[in-house]
Amino acid sequence: MSHTPHILSHLPRQPGFSALGDAFSGLVAATPVPAPRLAAWNGSLASELGLHPSVEAHGPELAELLAGNVPLVAHPPRASVYAGHQFGVYVPQLGDGRALLCAEFSDPASRPWELQLKGAGPTPYSRRADGRAVLRSSIREYLCSEAMHALGIPTTRALALVHAPEQPVWRERRETAAIVSRAAPSFLRFGHFEYWYYRGEAERVRELADWTIARHFPECREAAQPYRALLSAIISRSAGLVAGWQAVGFCHGVLNSDNMSVLGLTLDYGPFGFLDGFDAGHICNHSDERGRYAYDQQPRIVLWNLYCLGQAFMALLCREDILAALDEFQPAFERAMGQRLAAKLGLRDWQDDDWTLYDDLQGLLAAGRSDWTIFWRSLSHAADQPELPAALRDQLLDRAGFAGWHARYRARLAADPQAPAERKAAMLAANPAYVLRNHLAEQAIRLAEDEQDYREIARLQACLAEPFVERSEFASYAALPPDWARTLAVSCSS
Ligand code: AMP
Ligand code: MG
Repeated sequence: MSHTPHILSHLPRQPGFSALGDAFSGLVAATPVPAPRLAAWNGSLASELGLHPSVEAHGPELAELLAGNVPLVAHPPRASVYAGHQFGVYVPQLGDGRALLCAEFSDPASRPWELQLKGAGPTPYSRRADGRAVLRSSIREYLCSEAMHALGIPTTRALALVHAPEQPVWRERRETAAIVSRAAPSFLRFGHFEYWYYRGEAERVRELADWTIARHFPECREAAQPYRALLSAIISRSAGLVAGWQAVGFCHGVLNSDNMSVLGLTLDYGPFGFLDGFDAGHICNHSDERGRYAYDQQPRIVLWNLYCLGQAFMALLCREDILAALDEFQPAFERAMGQRLAAKLGLRDWQDDDWTLYDDLQGLLAAGRSDWTIFWRSLSHAADQPELPAALRDQLLDRAGFAGWHARYRARLAADPQAPAERKAAMLAANPAYVLRNHLAEQAIRLAEDEQDYREIARLQACLAEPFVERSEFASYAALPPDWARTLAVSCSS
Protein backbone atom coordinates (compact mmCIF):
# COMPACT_ATOMS: atom_id res chain seq x y z
CA MET A 1 0.00 0.00 0.00
CA SER A 2 1.52 3.28 -1.06
CA HIS A 3 0.67 6.46 0.83
CA THR A 4 3.08 8.78 -0.95
CA PRO A 5 4.42 7.01 -4.01
CA HIS A 6 6.48 9.99 -5.08
CA ILE A 7 7.18 12.49 -2.33
CA LEU A 8 8.77 14.80 -4.88
CA SER A 9 6.19 14.39 -7.60
CA HIS A 10 4.41 17.67 -6.86
CA LEU A 11 7.65 19.59 -7.48
CA PRO A 12 8.20 20.70 -11.06
CA ARG A 13 10.67 18.42 -12.82
CA GLN A 14 13.58 20.36 -14.21
CA PRO A 15 16.05 18.16 -16.05
CA GLY A 16 19.56 18.74 -14.74
CA PHE A 17 22.57 16.58 -15.47
CA SER A 18 20.33 14.00 -17.17
CA ALA A 19 19.68 16.53 -19.95
CA LEU A 20 23.24 15.89 -21.16
CA GLY A 21 22.14 12.47 -22.25
CA ASP A 22 23.44 8.94 -22.17
CA ALA A 23 27.09 9.69 -22.92
CA PHE A 24 27.37 11.53 -19.61
CA SER A 25 25.25 9.31 -17.38
CA GLY A 26 23.41 6.03 -17.70
CA LEU A 27 20.26 4.56 -16.22
CA VAL A 28 20.86 2.45 -13.13
CA ALA A 29 18.30 0.99 -10.76
CA ALA A 30 18.85 1.24 -7.02
CA THR A 31 19.40 -2.06 -5.22
CA PRO A 32 16.87 -2.46 -2.41
CA VAL A 33 17.93 -2.99 1.19
CA PRO A 34 15.98 -5.03 3.75
CA ALA A 35 14.07 -3.25 6.54
CA PRO A 36 15.26 0.35 6.07
CA ARG A 37 14.73 2.71 8.99
CA LEU A 38 14.67 6.47 8.86
CA ALA A 39 17.51 7.52 11.17
CA ALA A 40 17.40 11.26 10.55
CA TRP A 41 15.28 13.79 8.72
CA ASN A 42 16.09 17.40 7.93
CA GLY A 43 12.82 19.30 8.15
CA SER A 44 14.34 22.68 7.40
CA LEU A 45 15.92 21.53 4.14
CA ALA A 46 12.66 19.74 3.30
CA SER A 47 10.85 23.10 3.60
CA GLU A 48 13.45 24.82 1.45
CA LEU A 49 12.97 22.19 -1.24
CA GLY A 50 9.19 22.55 -1.13
CA LEU A 51 8.49 19.37 0.82
CA HIS A 52 6.46 19.14 4.00
CA PRO A 53 8.89 19.60 6.90
CA SER A 54 7.13 17.12 9.13
CA VAL A 55 8.36 13.57 8.77
CA GLU A 56 4.93 12.17 9.66
CA ALA A 57 3.38 13.98 6.71
CA HIS A 58 5.27 11.68 4.36
CA GLY A 59 3.78 8.48 5.68
CA PRO A 60 5.37 5.22 6.75
CA GLU A 61 6.96 4.54 3.37
CA LEU A 62 9.42 7.40 3.62
CA ALA A 63 12.30 5.12 4.63
CA GLU A 64 11.60 2.82 1.67
CA LEU A 65 11.60 5.81 -0.68
CA LEU A 66 14.80 7.29 0.66
CA ALA A 67 16.51 3.89 0.66
CA GLY A 68 15.87 3.54 -3.06
CA ASN A 69 13.51 0.59 -2.49
CA VAL A 70 10.62 2.51 -4.04
CA PRO A 71 11.13 5.07 -6.83
CA LEU A 72 11.21 8.67 -5.63
CA VAL A 73 9.96 10.05 -8.92
CA ALA A 74 8.66 8.65 -12.17
CA HIS A 75 12.05 8.89 -13.89
CA PRO A 76 14.69 6.21 -13.40
CA PRO A 77 17.92 7.02 -11.52
CA ARG A 78 21.23 7.73 -13.23
CA ALA A 79 24.93 7.37 -12.50
CA SER A 80 27.44 9.66 -14.18
CA VAL A 81 30.94 9.03 -15.41
CA TYR A 82 33.89 11.15 -14.32
CA ALA A 83 37.65 10.82 -13.84
CA GLY A 84 40.07 12.58 -11.55
CA HIS A 85 43.48 12.99 -9.99
CA GLN A 86 43.60 10.92 -6.80
CA PHE A 87 46.56 11.76 -4.55
CA GLY A 88 48.24 13.30 -7.57
CA VAL A 89 47.71 10.37 -9.94
CA TYR A 90 45.31 10.52 -12.88
CA VAL A 91 42.63 7.83 -12.82
CA PRO A 92 40.93 7.78 -16.22
CA GLN A 93 37.61 6.45 -15.04
CA LEU A 94 35.88 6.89 -11.71
CA GLY A 95 32.23 7.90 -11.72
CA ASP A 96 29.24 7.61 -9.40
CA GLY A 97 30.12 4.25 -7.93
CA ARG A 98 27.57 4.42 -5.16
CA ALA A 99 25.54 7.57 -5.69
CA LEU A 100 22.43 7.62 -7.85
CA LEU A 101 20.91 10.78 -9.21
CA CYS A 102 17.29 10.13 -8.32
CA ALA A 103 15.45 13.39 -8.85
CA GLU A 104 15.86 16.77 -10.57
CA PHE A 105 13.41 19.51 -9.75
CA SER A 106 13.07 23.16 -8.87
CA ASP A 107 12.08 24.45 -5.46
CA PRO A 108 9.34 27.01 -4.74
CA ALA A 109 11.88 29.81 -5.37
CA SER A 110 12.58 28.25 -8.81
CA ARG A 111 16.10 27.21 -7.86
CA PRO A 112 17.31 23.97 -9.43
CA TRP A 113 18.09 20.93 -7.29
CA GLU A 114 19.37 17.43 -7.80
CA LEU A 115 18.84 14.68 -5.26
CA GLN A 116 21.24 11.76 -4.97
CA LEU A 117 20.94 8.61 -2.91
CA LYS A 118 24.45 7.80 -1.74
CA GLY A 119 24.96 4.13 -0.92
CA ALA A 120 21.96 2.84 -2.90
CA GLY A 121 23.83 -0.02 -4.56
CA PRO A 122 26.35 -0.73 -7.29
CA THR A 123 26.58 1.06 -10.63
CA PRO A 124 28.73 0.49 -13.72
CA TYR A 125 31.28 2.77 -11.99
CA SER A 126 31.59 0.81 -8.76
CA ARG A 127 34.69 -0.96 -10.05
CA ARG A 128 35.22 -3.76 -7.53
CA ALA A 129 33.42 -2.06 -4.67
CA ASP A 130 29.94 -2.75 -3.34
CA GLY A 131 28.05 0.46 -4.04
CA ARG A 132 27.28 0.83 -0.35
CA ALA A 133 28.18 3.31 2.36
CA VAL A 134 28.53 2.31 6.00
CA LEU A 135 26.45 3.84 8.76
CA ARG A 136 29.34 5.66 10.46
CA SER A 137 30.47 7.56 7.36
CA SER A 138 26.86 8.30 6.41
CA ILE A 139 26.13 9.80 9.84
CA ARG A 140 29.25 11.94 9.45
CA GLU A 141 28.25 13.13 5.98
CA TYR A 142 24.67 13.80 7.04
CA LEU A 143 25.67 15.84 10.10
CA CYS A 144 28.63 17.65 8.60
CA SER A 145 26.97 18.86 5.44
CA GLU A 146 24.27 20.56 7.47
CA ALA A 147 26.81 21.83 10.01
CA MET A 148 28.83 23.45 7.20
CA HIS A 149 25.72 25.02 5.73
CA ALA A 150 24.91 26.56 9.10
CA LEU A 151 28.50 27.83 9.37
CA GLY A 152 27.96 29.73 6.14
CA ILE A 153 30.20 27.55 3.99
CA PRO A 154 28.93 26.38 0.59
CA THR A 155 28.18 22.68 0.64
CA THR A 156 26.01 19.90 -0.66
CA ARG A 157 23.07 19.39 1.69
CA ALA A 158 21.55 16.34 3.36
CA LEU A 159 17.83 15.68 3.47
CA ALA A 160 17.71 12.38 5.28
CA LEU A 161 19.61 9.39 6.56
CA VAL A 162 18.28 5.86 6.23
CA HIS A 163 19.84 2.96 8.12
CA ALA A 164 19.54 -0.65 6.97
CA PRO A 165 20.59 -2.63 10.06
CA GLU A 166 19.98 -5.91 8.26
CA GLN A 167 22.14 -5.06 5.25
CA PRO A 168 25.71 -6.05 6.09
CA VAL A 169 28.60 -4.13 4.58
CA TRP A 170 32.12 -5.48 4.85
CA ARG A 171 34.94 -3.07 5.53
CA GLU A 172 37.68 -3.84 8.10
CA ARG A 173 34.85 -5.49 10.02
CA ARG A 174 31.19 -6.25 9.46
CA GLU A 175 29.22 -3.04 9.43
CA THR A 176 25.75 -2.07 8.27
CA ALA A 177 24.55 0.00 5.35
CA ALA A 178 23.07 3.48 5.29
CA ILE A 179 21.87 5.79 2.57
CA VAL A 180 22.20 9.57 2.67
CA SER A 181 19.88 11.53 0.45
CA ARG A 182 21.98 14.49 -0.51
CA ALA A 183 20.94 17.55 -2.45
CA ALA A 184 22.73 20.22 -4.47
CA PRO A 185 22.02 22.37 -7.51
CA SER A 186 24.56 20.10 -9.20
CA PHE A 187 27.11 17.47 -8.23
CA LEU A 188 29.31 18.42 -11.17
CA ARG A 189 33.00 17.77 -10.43
CA PHE A 190 36.29 18.89 -11.96
CA GLY A 191 36.67 15.21 -12.88
CA HIS A 192 33.65 15.36 -15.18
CA PHE A 193 35.65 17.71 -17.44
CA GLU A 194 38.87 15.76 -17.06
CA TYR A 195 37.21 12.54 -18.19
CA TRP A 196 36.35 13.88 -21.66
CA TYR A 197 39.51 15.92 -22.05
CA TYR A 198 41.84 12.94 -21.50
CA ARG A 199 39.76 10.80 -23.84
CA GLY A 200 40.49 13.40 -26.48
CA GLU A 201 36.83 14.28 -26.93
CA ALA A 202 37.00 18.05 -27.05
CA GLU A 203 33.42 18.28 -28.34
CA ARG A 204 32.15 16.63 -25.17
CA VAL A 205 34.15 19.07 -23.02
CA ARG A 206 32.47 21.86 -24.96
CA GLU A 207 29.03 20.30 -24.52
CA LEU A 208 29.60 20.01 -20.80
CA ALA A 209 30.87 23.59 -20.53
CA ASP A 210 27.91 24.91 -22.52
CA TRP A 211 25.49 23.05 -20.28
CA THR A 212 27.30 24.26 -17.14
CA ILE A 213 27.08 27.86 -18.30
CA ALA A 214 23.45 27.61 -19.39
CA ARG A 215 22.26 25.99 -16.21
CA HIS A 216 24.59 27.18 -13.45
CA PHE A 217 26.60 30.19 -14.65
CA PRO A 218 24.20 32.13 -16.92
CA GLU A 219 26.11 35.36 -16.20
CA CYS A 220 29.06 33.95 -18.19
CA ARG A 221 27.00 33.75 -21.35
CA GLU A 222 27.21 37.51 -21.84
CA ALA A 223 31.00 37.63 -21.41
CA ALA A 224 33.28 38.23 -24.40
CA GLN A 225 34.76 34.76 -23.81
CA PRO A 226 32.17 32.64 -21.98
CA TYR A 227 34.54 29.71 -21.28
CA ARG A 228 37.17 32.05 -19.88
CA ALA A 229 34.48 33.64 -17.70
CA LEU A 230 33.37 30.19 -16.55
CA LEU A 231 36.90 29.21 -15.56
CA SER A 232 37.32 32.48 -13.67
CA ALA A 233 34.02 31.96 -11.87
CA ILE A 234 35.01 28.43 -10.80
CA ILE A 235 38.39 29.71 -9.60
CA SER A 236 36.77 32.50 -7.63
CA ARG A 237 34.26 30.15 -5.99
CA SER A 238 36.95 27.61 -5.14
CA ALA A 239 39.07 30.35 -3.54
CA GLY A 240 36.12 31.47 -1.46
CA LEU A 241 35.36 27.90 -0.46
CA VAL A 242 38.82 27.06 0.80
CA ALA A 243 38.99 30.35 2.71
CA GLY A 244 35.81 29.28 4.48
CA TRP A 245 37.38 25.93 5.37
CA GLN A 246 40.54 27.52 6.73
CA ALA A 247 38.56 29.96 8.84
CA VAL A 248 36.54 27.30 10.67
CA GLY A 249 39.43 24.82 10.77
CA PHE A 250 37.77 22.31 8.45
CA CYS A 251 40.03 19.74 6.83
CA HIS A 252 38.46 17.93 3.89
CA GLY A 253 40.78 14.95 3.98
CA VAL A 254 40.58 13.77 0.35
CA LEU A 255 40.97 16.77 -1.92
CA ASN A 256 41.22 14.79 -5.13
CA SER A 257 40.07 16.58 -8.26
CA ASP A 258 37.05 14.26 -8.50
CA ASN A 259 35.94 15.56 -5.09
CA MET A 260 36.09 19.20 -6.22
CA SER A 261 32.74 20.76 -7.04
CA VAL A 262 32.47 22.98 -10.10
CA LEU A 263 29.91 25.01 -8.15
CA GLY A 264 32.37 25.58 -5.31
CA LEU A 265 30.56 23.39 -2.79
CA THR A 266 32.11 21.22 -0.11
CA LEU A 267 31.60 17.79 -1.64
CA ASP A 268 32.10 14.13 -0.63
CA TYR A 269 32.47 14.08 3.12
CA GLY A 270 34.80 11.24 4.02
CA PRO A 271 37.67 11.38 6.50
CA PHE A 272 37.18 15.10 7.20
CA GLY A 273 37.97 16.70 10.54
CA PHE A 274 37.91 19.99 12.37
CA LEU A 275 41.03 21.33 14.01
CA ASP A 276 41.09 20.99 17.74
CA GLY A 277 44.51 21.69 19.30
CA PHE A 278 46.00 23.94 16.63
CA ASP A 279 48.56 22.38 14.34
CA ALA A 280 48.92 23.98 10.91
CA GLY A 281 50.10 20.69 9.47
CA HIS A 282 47.20 18.70 10.91
CA ILE A 283 46.36 15.61 8.82
CA CYS A 284 42.81 14.45 9.41
CA ASN A 285 42.86 11.44 7.09
CA HIS A 286 44.70 8.46 8.52
CA SER A 287 45.28 7.14 4.98
CA ASP A 288 47.05 10.36 3.92
CA GLU A 289 50.48 9.34 5.16
CA ARG A 290 52.42 12.17 3.60
CA GLY A 291 50.02 14.92 4.55
CA ARG A 292 49.21 15.90 0.98
CA TYR A 293 45.87 17.16 2.25
CA ALA A 294 47.01 18.60 5.58
CA TYR A 295 45.17 21.69 6.87
CA ASP A 296 47.76 24.22 5.74
CA GLN A 297 48.09 22.56 2.31
CA GLN A 298 44.44 22.99 1.38
CA PRO A 299 44.68 26.34 -0.43
CA ARG A 300 47.53 25.18 -2.63
CA ILE A 301 45.91 21.80 -3.26
CA VAL A 302 42.74 23.53 -4.37
CA LEU A 303 44.90 25.53 -6.78
CA TRP A 304 46.60 22.30 -7.90
CA ASN A 305 43.17 20.86 -8.65
CA LEU A 306 42.27 24.03 -10.53
CA TYR A 307 45.33 23.40 -12.69
CA CYS A 308 43.84 19.97 -13.48
CA LEU A 309 40.62 21.65 -14.48
CA GLY A 310 42.59 24.24 -16.43
CA GLN A 311 44.28 21.42 -18.32
CA ALA A 312 40.87 20.08 -19.34
CA PHE A 313 39.92 23.60 -20.46
CA MET A 314 42.70 23.33 -23.06
CA ALA A 315 39.87 21.87 -25.14
CA LEU A 316 38.16 25.27 -24.97
CA LEU A 317 40.74 28.00 -24.46
CA CYS A 318 44.30 28.86 -25.31
CA ARG A 319 47.06 28.24 -22.81
CA GLU A 320 47.66 31.95 -22.08
CA ASP A 321 44.04 32.53 -21.14
CA ILE A 322 44.01 29.51 -18.85
CA LEU A 323 47.21 30.57 -17.09
CA ALA A 324 45.91 34.11 -16.72
CA ALA A 325 42.73 32.76 -15.13
CA LEU A 326 44.73 30.55 -12.75
CA ASP A 327 46.72 33.59 -11.67
CA GLU A 328 43.46 34.96 -10.28
CA PHE A 329 43.37 32.28 -7.59
CA GLN A 330 45.93 33.66 -5.13
CA PRO A 331 44.54 37.21 -4.95
CA ALA A 332 40.99 35.83 -4.78
CA PHE A 333 41.98 33.51 -1.94
CA GLU A 334 43.72 36.30 -0.05
CA ARG A 335 40.71 38.56 -0.45
CA ALA A 336 38.33 35.87 0.77
CA MET A 337 40.64 34.83 3.60
CA GLY A 338 41.16 38.46 4.60
CA GLN A 339 37.41 38.93 4.85
CA ARG A 340 36.97 35.78 6.91
CA LEU A 341 39.86 36.72 9.22
CA ALA A 342 38.70 40.30 9.60
CA ALA A 343 35.35 38.94 10.79
CA LYS A 344 37.04 36.46 13.13
CA LEU A 345 39.27 39.12 14.66
CA GLY A 346 36.51 41.72 14.90
CA LEU A 347 37.92 44.07 12.29
CA ARG A 348 35.73 45.87 9.82
CA ASP A 349 38.32 45.69 7.08
CA TRP A 350 41.51 43.79 6.48
CA GLN A 351 44.79 45.61 6.00
CA ASP A 352 48.09 44.27 4.73
CA ASP A 353 49.76 44.44 8.14
CA ASP A 354 47.04 42.26 9.59
CA TRP A 355 48.60 39.19 7.95
CA THR A 356 51.54 39.48 10.33
CA LEU A 357 49.20 39.73 13.29
CA TYR A 358 47.47 36.58 12.10
CA ASP A 359 50.67 34.65 11.35
CA ASP A 360 52.02 35.46 14.78
CA LEU A 361 48.79 34.32 16.38
CA GLN A 362 49.03 31.01 14.55
CA GLY A 363 52.54 30.52 15.94
CA LEU A 364 51.31 31.14 19.48
CA LEU A 365 48.34 28.81 19.08
CA ALA A 366 50.61 26.13 17.67
CA ALA A 367 53.03 26.46 20.59
CA GLY A 368 50.28 25.68 23.08
CA ARG A 369 48.21 23.44 20.81
CA SER A 370 45.38 25.75 21.77
CA ASP A 371 41.97 24.62 20.70
CA TRP A 372 41.02 26.43 17.49
CA THR A 373 37.28 26.74 18.05
CA ILE A 374 37.45 27.50 21.77
CA PHE A 375 40.18 30.07 21.28
CA TRP A 376 38.22 32.09 18.74
CA ARG A 377 34.97 31.84 20.65
CA SER A 378 36.67 32.99 23.87
CA LEU A 379 38.39 35.82 22.03
CA SER A 380 34.98 36.92 20.73
CA HIS A 381 33.59 37.08 24.26
CA ALA A 382 36.62 38.97 25.50
CA ALA A 383 37.40 41.26 22.58
CA ASP A 384 36.48 44.38 24.52
CA GLN A 385 38.35 43.32 27.69
CA PRO A 386 41.89 44.38 28.49
CA GLU A 387 42.66 40.83 29.70
CA LEU A 388 41.89 37.47 28.21
CA PRO A 389 39.77 35.17 30.40
CA ALA A 390 41.88 32.98 32.68
CA ALA A 391 40.55 29.76 31.14
CA LEU A 392 41.84 30.84 27.80
CA ARG A 393 45.20 32.05 29.13
CA ASP A 394 45.70 28.62 30.66
CA GLN A 395 45.55 27.05 27.22
CA LEU A 396 48.40 29.17 25.95
CA LEU A 397 51.89 27.90 26.48
CA ASP A 398 53.74 31.06 25.57
CA ARG A 399 51.91 33.46 27.86
CA ALA A 400 54.46 36.24 27.63
CA GLY A 401 54.44 35.97 23.86
CA PHE A 402 50.72 36.07 23.88
CA ALA A 403 50.57 39.13 26.11
CA GLY A 404 52.68 40.94 23.52
CA TRP A 405 50.38 39.78 20.75
CA HIS A 406 47.32 40.83 22.72
CA ALA A 407 48.68 44.34 23.18
CA ARG A 408 49.25 44.64 19.42
CA TYR A 409 45.79 43.25 18.76
CA ARG A 410 44.19 45.77 21.13
CA ALA A 411 46.07 48.59 19.46
CA ARG A 412 44.75 47.38 16.13
CA LEU A 413 41.20 47.25 17.52
CA ALA A 414 41.57 50.85 18.68
CA ALA A 415 42.06 51.85 15.05
CA ASP A 416 38.93 49.95 13.96
CA PRO A 417 35.71 51.97 13.67
CA GLN A 418 33.37 49.42 15.30
CA ALA A 419 31.94 50.04 18.75
CA PRO A 420 32.82 47.27 21.26
CA ALA A 421 29.29 45.87 21.47
CA GLU A 422 28.94 45.83 17.71
CA ARG A 423 32.31 44.12 17.36
CA LYS A 424 31.49 41.50 19.94
CA ALA A 425 28.22 40.65 18.22
CA ALA A 426 29.98 40.40 14.86
CA MET A 427 32.72 38.15 16.27
CA LEU A 428 30.19 35.89 17.95
CA ALA A 429 28.50 35.57 14.58
CA ALA A 430 31.78 34.64 12.89
CA ASN A 431 33.39 32.31 15.43
CA PRO A 432 31.19 29.29 16.13
CA ALA A 433 30.73 27.75 19.55
CA TYR A 434 30.05 24.35 18.00
CA VAL A 435 31.67 22.36 15.21
CA LEU A 436 31.31 18.66 14.43
CA ARG A 437 34.32 17.32 16.26
CA ASN A 438 35.14 13.67 15.62
CA HIS A 439 34.23 12.56 19.12
CA LEU A 440 30.80 14.17 18.88
CA ALA A 441 30.05 12.30 15.68
CA GLU A 442 31.51 9.17 17.28
CA GLN A 443 29.04 9.31 20.18
CA ALA A 444 26.13 9.47 17.75
CA ILE A 445 27.67 6.66 15.68
CA ARG A 446 28.14 4.29 18.61
CA LEU A 447 24.55 4.66 19.78
CA ALA A 448 23.23 4.17 16.27
CA GLU A 449 25.46 1.17 15.55
CA ASP A 450 25.06 -0.60 18.89
CA GLU A 451 21.47 0.16 19.79
CA GLN A 452 19.84 1.58 16.68
CA ASP A 453 19.27 4.62 18.81
CA TYR A 454 19.34 7.65 16.49
CA ARG A 455 18.47 10.32 19.04
CA GLU A 456 22.02 11.61 19.40
CA ILE A 457 22.08 12.34 15.66
CA ALA A 458 19.00 14.52 16.05
CA ARG A 459 20.44 16.27 19.09
CA LEU A 460 23.70 17.07 17.31
CA GLN A 461 21.79 18.16 14.24
CA ALA A 462 19.77 20.60 16.35
CA CYS A 463 22.91 21.98 17.99
CA LEU A 464 24.89 22.35 14.79
CA ALA A 465 22.01 24.00 12.96
CA GLU A 466 22.77 27.11 15.06
CA PRO A 467 26.49 26.95 15.70
CA PHE A 468 26.77 30.57 16.77
CA VAL A 469 24.11 30.38 19.49
CA GLU A 470 25.31 29.03 22.83
CA ARG A 471 22.72 26.93 24.62
CA SER A 472 23.22 25.43 28.08
CA GLU A 473 21.85 22.02 27.05
CA PHE A 474 24.64 21.77 24.48
CA ALA A 475 27.47 22.99 26.73
CA SER A 476 29.31 19.66 26.54
CA TYR A 477 29.43 19.92 22.73
CA ALA A 478 31.47 23.11 23.03
CA ALA A 479 34.04 21.59 25.37
CA LEU A 480 37.53 20.26 24.63
CA PRO A 481 37.61 16.71 23.25
CA PRO A 482 37.82 14.07 25.99
CA ASP A 483 40.96 11.95 26.36
CA TRP A 484 39.43 8.93 24.63
CA ALA A 485 39.01 11.02 21.47
CA ARG A 486 42.79 11.08 20.98
CA THR A 487 42.81 7.56 19.61
CA LEU A 488 40.01 8.18 17.11
CA ALA A 489 41.20 7.80 13.55
CA VAL A 490 39.26 8.30 10.36
CA SER A 491 40.43 6.91 7.05
CA CYS A 492 39.31 6.57 3.46
CA SER A 493 37.31 3.48 4.44
CA SER A 494 33.69 4.47 4.20
P1 AMP B 1 35.85 8.67 -2.87
O1 AMP B 1 37.20 8.29 -2.36
O2 AMP B 1 34.74 8.37 -1.89
O3 AMP B 1 35.78 10.05 -3.39
O4 AMP B 1 35.55 7.68 -4.07
C1 AMP B 1 36.36 7.55 -5.21
C2 AMP B 1 35.68 6.68 -6.22
O5 AMP B 1 35.39 5.41 -5.70
C3 AMP B 1 34.34 7.23 -6.70
O6 AMP B 1 34.21 6.89 -8.05
C4 AMP B 1 33.36 6.49 -5.86
O7 AMP B 1 32.09 6.40 -6.44
C5 AMP B 1 34.01 5.14 -5.74
N1 AMP B 1 33.61 4.42 -4.53
C6 AMP B 1 34.03 4.65 -3.26
N2 AMP B 1 33.48 3.78 -2.41
C7 AMP B 1 32.70 2.97 -3.14
C8 AMP B 1 31.85 1.86 -2.85
N3 AMP B 1 31.72 1.39 -1.61
N4 AMP B 1 31.20 1.28 -3.87
C9 AMP B 1 31.34 1.73 -5.13
N5 AMP B 1 32.10 2.76 -5.48
C10 AMP B 1 32.79 3.38 -4.50
MG1 MG C 1 34.43 11.09 -4.19
